[in-house]
Amino acid sequence: MDPKITEILKKEEKRQKENIELIASENYASEYVRELQGSIFTNKYAEGYPGKRYYGGCEYIDEMENLAISYVCKLFDVKYANVQPHSGSSANMAVYRALLQKGDKVMGMNLSNGGHLTHGNKMSFSGQDYEIVSYDVDPVTEMLDYEEIRSLAIKEKPKMIIAGASAYSRIIDFEKFASIAHEVGAYLFVDMAHIAGLVAAHLHPNPCLYADVVTSTTHKTLRGPRGGIILTNNEEIAKKINKAIFPGIQGGPLEHVIAAKAQCFYEALQPEFIEYQKQVLKNMQALIEALKEEEFKIVSDGSDNHLILVDVKGSCGLTGKEAEELLDKIHITVNKNTIPKETEKPMVSSGIRIGTPAMTTRGFKENEFKKVGHIIATALKNSQDEEILKKLNQEVLDLTSQF
Ligand SMILES: *Cc1c(COP(=O)(O)O)cnc(C)c1O
Repeated sequence: MDPKITEILKKEEKRQKENIELIASENYASEYVRELQGSIFTNKYAEGYPGKRYYGGCEYIDEMENLAISYVCKLFDVKYANVQPHSGSSANMAVYRALLQKGDKVMGMNLSNGGHLTHGNKMSFSGQDYEIVSYDVDPVTEMLDYEEIRSLAIKEKPKMIIAGASAYSRIIDFEKFASIAHEVGAYLFVDMAHIAGLVAAHLHPNPCLYADVVTSTTHKTLRGPRGGIILTNNEEIAKKINKAIFPGIQGGPLEHVIAAKAQCFYEALQPEFIEYQKQVLKNMQALIEALKEEEFKIVSDGSDNHLILVDVKGSCGLTGKEAEELLDKIHITVNKNTIPKETEKPMVSSGIRIGTPAMTTRGFKENEFKKVGHIIATALKNSQDEEILKKLNQEVLDLTSQF
């Protein structure tokens, strides 16, 4: 291997080992998932779908893709799946293309309140090609207010409503969303990118029971390869989705990634996966306890899932950007994040987002997460004290060296 490439790889490996990884959308995929992602399946062109390909030699590719589809349908209790989306964003783009015309009205969650760029932000295709109305969380509870969402839907009559978020720490009531959408004649599209692992383990309501179409990433709580999926129980929608993915927005599928997705779904069907997700939730509660002991403010005052937003500006006067950079110095990785009623620009922001999935995979339990909470709080409260930061940095390295 090119020595320059090897060197960069080694540096990243060291970083991943040493740091406490708390980015809520990240995880450590299994060796099997990574082996399949680097496998000979990358050599094959397979435009089309199992049994209907534009290339010869696809008999084993078809077998693998069909296996991935059957596993994911079982995992989420759904009839149809497309496992070809290269990412969560391309899965979402395919849903818009399949169900809407350009200019149609869509209702999604405001990015600064926890939504995703592809839910209607002006910087994304979604905000550029469609008319967007966005809903916010309630300013007091900082949770979704279904009556508000219903009133907005009745007033705006969107063609599609999107539920799902990248930075929302509470249970989402998909049944309520479905009743609102169907009352106004809209499709309900659920993007469960963040919570798919919890859904798979039956620790969060399953949107597939209520939504017209569901998308997800496979690399977040689901702990698989980087990629996307689209699920539905409606045959007509399934056909439209398949056309929207290929030839609509993609060419040849990444069959090596699809092989790794099959392994990811297989792993998620095992009883150990449910234990893992239960630990993700327990660890989040332990972290919250520690941060509350340190009198940190948490958006919506807690969490039902794998993540929280911490109001660092309100808790210790630092911006999200400053907090992220400070924690980076002591080998703790988080991301700055906007919070409800944000006053800073997104690149600065007033909060940080913290998630437990990755370190739970590493083996952290409640005790470790309590320590992590106190380390974070002490660092942020003593951002100018080099001695304290040095000591905390050593604590982090000692902790990660054991896992
Ligand atoms: C992460 C995420 C996506 C996008 O996934 P990519 O694979 O990064 O394109 C889409 N929707 C939500 C809600 C997400 O959190």
